[in-house]
Amino acid sequence: MFALFAALSDNIMRRVRLLIKNGHVIRWDAHDRVEQLKAHHVLIEDNRIRDVVAVVPKSFAPDQTIDATGCTVIPGLINTHHHLYQSLTRCLKPVQNAKLFDWLLGLYEMWQRLDFDAVKLGSQVSMAEMLLSGCTTTNDMFYVYPRESDVKAEAVIEAAAEIGMRIHAGRGSMSLGRSKGGLPPDDVVQDEATIVRDCERVIDKFHDPKPGAMTRIDLMPCSPFSITFDLLKETRALARARSVLCHTHVAETQDETDFCIKKFGKRPADYLMSADWIGPDVSWAHCVCLNAGEVKLVADTGTAVAHCPSSNMILGSGIAPICQLMNAKVTVGLGVDGSSSNNGAHVLAEARQALLLQRVKNGADSFTPEDALRLATLGGAKLLNRTRELGNVAAGYAADIAIFDLNTVEYAGAAVQDPLGALMMCHAARARFVIVNGRVVVNDGQVATVDAQRLVARVNDVVRRRFGDSGARGTRS
Ligand SMILES: [Zn+2]
Repeated sequence: MFALFAALSDNIMRRVRLLIKNGHVIRWDAHDRVEQLKAHHVLIEDNRIRDVVAVVPKSFAPDQTIDATGCTVIPGLINTHHHLYQSLTRCLKPVQNAKLFDWLLGLYEMWQRLDFDAVKLGSQVSMAEMLLSGCTTTNDMFYVYPRESDVKAEAVIEAAAEIGMRIHAGRGSMSLGRSKGGLPPDDVVQDEATIVRDCERVIDKFHDPKPGAMTRIDLMPCSPFSITFDLLKETRALARARSVLCHTHVAETQDETDFCIKKFGKRPADYLMSADWIGPDVSWAHCVCLNAGEVKLVADTGTAVAHCPSSNMILGSGIAPICQLMNAKVTVGLGVDGSSSNNGAHVLAEARQALLLQRVKNGADSFTPEDALRLATLGGAKLLNRTRELGNVAAGYAADIAIFDLNTVEYAGAAVQDPLGALMMCHAARARFVIVNGRVVVNDGQVATVDAQRLVARVNDVVRRRFGDSGARGTRS
């Protein structure tokens, strides 16, 4: 009887072991410099990386083995700015050629038709696309709560749990409707008390502060032109009281700067600073229109920046001063932004876009493949206050890993020269394997946790039924 109990107990206590065998590992060393290890093995126990070694110890008996011969093994990529539901409204013809404010005015009307099931589907298909691109952790700012809709933060959180993606789910919000001088129609904004009550509810229900957490809740009022000063102050105080992060859009376009000067008598950065929306627990998305003094303010206060190059290009917003921010030692993460303003959610491709865009502005030697990887891994981890937990392939880190097969037409010839350069400068391919929290979620190039083909069919059906008449609608200046 004792032997049986001991065997059962041993079985229950035994850690699940995953071996990634014989890969070319690209990771960060103890000084955060890039390090490339040929023919190395990654040992994973449960949801943590146990070690990265040249020889697998005999004592490590894996339950599962991934043969990474000919593949590059990199830290799971981190996406620091997204609106996952927006895959439901990508490539809408009336706003395909619009700048930010016109684009939003066209889309607010569409987003009034959102409900719980649609948001969940749209979010999950965005996450499937990101997982296939090697991304393992994502931000999400969900901020549209139409008056007659049943939508709740749970739609996104459930979608992430089902597909197996690590998420910083933002309880987003808008409180400054058109009748108060804001941009969004009154039907998609909420009053401050309702928003703050729901922020507290969602934190209580879902926020996991422990290391290795799969779900964290951050507070994310949308933008200076859609939120009241009272909401800024109240959400900041709540975030401080509950030790959760703050994230918002700042200085995305010149129109936003003009709006803030006209309505508040301040530039966007000054407006945020006056509500104490600065510091190491705050990140600002975009920051295209920061001036030199504002770059210094961001650096001096430890505020982080989420850079979204494709969205900035598609909306014609401009080029964010990322090289200047990095030179000033600002923490910069990478974001794909919502699928309506990127029209894709490929995080590896976004790293390449960051490299290309900074070089357009600052020259060929201004931004390296290493810089691109840094934004997409270490920068994101630091922005999310998860340094030494996410963003590396090293002992003790969460087992979040992306594996790319470099024996493909996309990388032919290039990977022989430089695997890191190939990943960041060639046309970005699909990851072959992706591991999140020790679980294989992309297996041989396919999402393993949901039926992706069925998901695509359901999303297409929802889009046809709810948004299929977009060609005849919308506001286009
Ligand atoms: Zn955004």
